[in-house]
Amino acid sequence: MPLHTAPLSRRSFLAQSAAAAAGLLVYRQGWSAEAGANPNRIALLSDTHIPEGPDVLARDTNMTSNLKQVVREILTLTDNPSAVMINGDCAYLKGLPADYANLADCVAPLTQAGFPLHMTMGNHDDRGPFYEAFRNQKPEQPLLQSKHITVVEGPLANWFLLDSLLEVNVTPGEIGDEQRAWLAKALAARSDKPAIVMAHHTPQFEPPAEGKSWGGLKDTTALVELLASIKHVKAFIFGHSHHWATLQRGGLHLINLPPVAYVFTPGKPNGWVLADVRENGLSLELRSLDPTHKQHGEKLSLEW
Ligand SMILES: [Zn+2]
Repeated sequence: MPLHTAPLSRRSFLAQSAAAAAGLLVYRQGWSAEAGANPNRIALLSDTHIPEGPDVLARDTNMTSNLKQVVREILTLTDNPSAVMINGDCAYLKGLPADYANLADCVAPLTQAGFPLHMTMGNHDDRGPFYEAFRNQKPEQPLLQSKHITVVEGPLANWFLLDSLLEVNVTPGEIGDEQRAWLAKALAARSDKPAIVMAHHTPQFEPPAEGKSWGGLKDTTALVELLASIKHVKAFIFGHSHHWATLQRGGLHLINLPPVAYVFTPGKPNGWVLADVRENGLSLELRSLDPTHKQHGEKLSLEW
């Protein structure tokens, strides 16, 4: 069972051991996750919204087909990422056991190829059924009892994967006092490298207008104040809004991942992001599901 504070190379080993124990391990020709992966490269996915069956559509989109396409694209990379991360709303709406069974089927080729897989919880996920379907995602000793959180220690940066799920199938999210206090300590204990923090929900600095309800992260101000107060925190990565964008707030980069599923704004790209951590920053490449989309292959270089 993977530790949830293991460095990437160790995680690769553990993922392979778990896969091997389950009889799932299939090496691709001339490649292994341990020896062949680029330790500074991560595949970033978000908002997969995988439903209970592969034929279920939403907004004219087959979410299962979309994720299977992304999985194929990751498997055909020549420079392999050392991990794949799905940043929440892994399941379609209610985090049903059948959703996660379909998701497990979609990501099986990644697991079989030895890619460590990390997932965060969005508002359409449910921790219980998630852990039932992905038993190796449940740590023996959780960092926090009530949350699914992970620290991934990379060679050039550490990744802190938070849990902003507040209530299943209810839109807003929250980090909460307990998780924020844990994060402050976890960040302080790893001040030797840049920190990249990730959670599902979109920052929402202002409360909703009267009569409207929260749509994003309810305690955005408290989280962002914490992140901005710690010099080695360089980026906050999120999803939820299905809207690919990056912006900078002081020294903190804000990265809004595109959805693997459907977009909310017609014309925006859906797809995933190939991230390469550098000594002084992060390179991002948008991989649009539609290779004819004008932003497909767009490369951004964030500096720190
Ligand atoms: Zn969401």
